Amino acid sequence: MSSSAAAPASSPDALVIAHKFGGTSVASAQRYRHVAELLLQRPETTQVVVVSAMKGVTDALIELANLAAQGQPQWRQAWQALRQRHHEAATELLGEDSADLLQWLDGRFDKLAGLLEALAVIGGLPEEVLERVQGLGEVFSAQLLGRYFNRLGQPCAVLDARDVLVVAHGELGVSVDWERSAANLAAWRVDNPQSRVVVTGFVARDGQGRITTLGRNGSDYSGAIFAALFEAAELHIWTDVDGVLSADPRVVPEAVTLAALSYDEACELAYFGAKVVHPQTMSPAIARQMPIVIRNTFNPSHPGTRIASSSEPSGPIKGLTLSEQLAVLNLEGSGLIGVPGTAERVFAALRHAQVSVVMISQGSSEHSICCVVRAGDAARGRQALLQAFAHELANGHVHRVQLTEGVSVLAAVGDGMAGQPGVAARLFNALGRAQVNILAIAQGASERNISVAVASADAQRALRAAHAGFWLSEQTFAIGVIGPGNVGAALIEQLLGAREGLRQRANLDLRLLAVGSRQQMLLSPTALASDWRQALAGQAAPLDLQAFAAHLRRSELPHAMIIDCSGSSEVADHYAQWLAAGIHVITPNKQAGAGPQQRYAAIQAAARASGARFRYEATVGAGLPVITTLRDLVDTGDQLHSIEGIFSGTLAWLFNTFDGSVPFSQLVSQARAMGYTEPDPRDDLSGIDVARKLVILAREAGFALELDDVQVESLVPEALRSADVEQFMARLAEVDAAFAQRQAQAAAAGQVLRYVARFVPGQGAQVGLVAVPADHGFAHLRLTDNVVQFTTARYCANPLVVQGPGAGPEVTAAGVFADVLRVAAGEGARL
Ligand code: ADP
Ligand code: ASP
Ligand code: MG
Repeated sequence: MSSSAAAPASSPDALVIAHKFGGTSVASAQRYRHVAELLLQRPETTQVVVVSAMKGVTDALIELANLAAQGQPQWRQAWQALRQRHHEAATELLGEDSADLLQWLDGRFDKLAGLLEALAVIGGLPEEVLERVQGLGEVFSAQLLGRYFNRLGQPCAVLDARDVLVVAHGELGVSVDWERSAANLAAWRVDNPQSRVVVTGFVARDGQGRITTLGRNGSDYSGAIFAALFEAAELHIWTDVDGVLSADPRVVPEAVTLAALSYDEACELAYFGAKVVHPQTMSPAIARQMPIVIRNTFNPSHPGTRIASSSEPSGPIKGLTLSEQLAVLNLEGSGLIGVPGTAERVFAALRHAQVSVVMISQGSSEHSICCVVRAGDAARGRQALLQAFAHELANGHVHRVQLTEGVSVLAAVGDGMAGQPGVAARLFNALGRAQVNILAIAQGASERNISVAVASADAQRALRAAHAGFWLSEQTFAIGVIGPGNVGAALIEQLLGAREGLRQRANLDLRLLAVGSRQQMLLSPTALASDWRQALAGQAAPLDLQAFAAHLRRSELPHAMIIDCSGSSEVADHYAQWLAAGIHVITPNKQAGAGPQQRYAAIQAAARASGARFRYEATVGAGLPVITTLRDLVDTGDQLHSIEGIFSGTLAWLFNTFDGSVPFSQLVSQARAMGYTEPDPRDDLSGIDVARKLVILAREAGFALELDDVQVESLVPEALRSADVEQFMARLAEVDAAFAQRQAQAAAAGQVLRYVARFVPGQGAQVGLVAVPADHGFAHLRLTDNVVQFTTARYCANPLVVQGPGAGPEVTAAGVFADVLRVAAGEGARL
């Protein structure tokens, strides 16, 4: 490719700027209008506008040609639909002035129909015909935009690139015949001197005058070629993203826009599959040192990504890409060790078989040579190597030629990695954490690229994990909250409220990616914000616990965490499985802690095996540090003598208030009215909830206690257990006499009634109403306060007491949040 066009005009008053609009930018009449507006507002004096076909049109044309060639009569409907789409765009853009264009379009479409009919007759699709057909979308598209400018009274010429651009197809892709193309353009310009020219992308002619194209996605290349031919100062490539992103946003939702790239970096990214710029795009621009700016039609005020001869290295890595549909060829044998020329023979054989090598890696023992090739070339490549090394295979110097299919290459690209240690380590760390197996590794001596071959099944996971490894804080957590009721919703609000501060102070990034209730499940690719409720309300599918966990894992953020704020035992059934998969589990749900010992043990075992944490501080005493305190005692080798306390805010309030002046049943009604009780107060009065908390504490202290082992005194008489709630409330007065009597008896002895839980190793666990001396610690609690008293070898004469409000959504949520932060600290967050 020789460069012939002169240096770009740089004087601002003679400024030429070339623009290229991709199919996504011209998907409809409305989009063309938007493009025209955008161009009309620009300052340059000469505007070269290269357009792609409307979105999807190239695919549709190829499909049409295939259908016709296969003799499938549906091609006629498809042809009709395509014509209709262009008709509609034309009428919408040109209104009453559209007759001319419609007639022109009809002429083209009739010709196309003729071609397709011929294909149906011959029953095949010659390359030449495909080339001619697939490029028509650009021809239509340029007319639509050009004539729209004319209708607005703006001078504008439409250039059919097939009239000027001459290219040749070679081994290294498509090359431009600059001399002929420039001469053709100069001749065309004599009759078309307008300051705005709309040019068809994608299409061209070959040296023999046959219609051809620049290959799929070739309009970017067209943009660069015409920018060069028109001696533009810059090329702006307009698409549907803000610029070149650090990774394909369809795979990595948190990909970031890069402000600047060097040509080298952009080439490397493009070569390895970053779709935003076509690899060949750069060559005409590089030859002329012409900057390329990638910009967003949908967000034109964004400066985009500037690609020029040098860029500030903003970090070791600029971008990550995936090339898919590859295979690994591996030549292995001890006879290769120290034999000169083996590599040369490998590559010569592949070259002969026209197999292009994407990546090469050789261990320093020279025991094997491994090449990554395109999937379509793989079998041919293997055959070529078998032949080339037939002799060595026969005498055992080469053991085998192995072909692994279904391979993708992940490439990390950036000028900044040169001479910087630790870049590879970071990449491999991230891949290791995501359990991605690496098949082969290569780093170019330019140190601008590290490539790893992985199984295609792992490729997207690998890309997300690598992206997280380079762009995100090591302390980034994917969080899912199950059960957004009172506590769950309060927790979400607390998490959202603290997020920014934690990010700044501790580099801790807590990302809420999933919320699930029984009826709805919201799985978001990016962190949810304060509008999570509306987003959740819009979901129809119910909670699917498998999908919920899979979504968190899929994000490949460094850590994942599920917070279960439901009261469900079914959710607790999943904890062990989640923990085994490395997902931390945090919950105020007592089901796991107080449920069957076997499940509890399985959960703890799974956590120990994987290193993921299971935390449930808020199950006892809400936000009070009860379990943490107990754990510290046990961990530091203290001996537990007893656990005693008042674990129910409801029962605390009832007996703090019950002095005989108001009947017990009335107090229950009052408590219920104030929201101090569960909707059915029997859930509090039965004492089961208190017993559960006692089981959790006993287990935490290392004792295998089951709920059935706890002696529970229920305050609900047998006779009222099966009634419905309202009946129960109505009949509760039946118990007043008995309670009054117990209260009076206690008072006479200088005592008060308290509902106390008690566990003494070796003496079992009891929960029930007891009379304690009026000067006992439990006698002077405030309203709904909880109290837990640990008597141990160290705290024997004077027990360790944790006391305070032990209920309410806000403090419970805060208890859960504290667990979240403890887990984060355990993962290295500096809090
Ligand atoms: P156009 O129609 O404008 O030519 P394309 O569909 O060809 O657009 O390419 C733009 C798309 O490329 C974006 O929408 C984006 O999803 C995808 N893409 C893949 N890799 C990257 C990357 N590294 N940076 C930005 N976009 C990328
Ligand atoms: N329309 C062509 C394609 O879809 C060229 C392009 O848009 O770049 O491949
Ligand atoms: Mg494109």
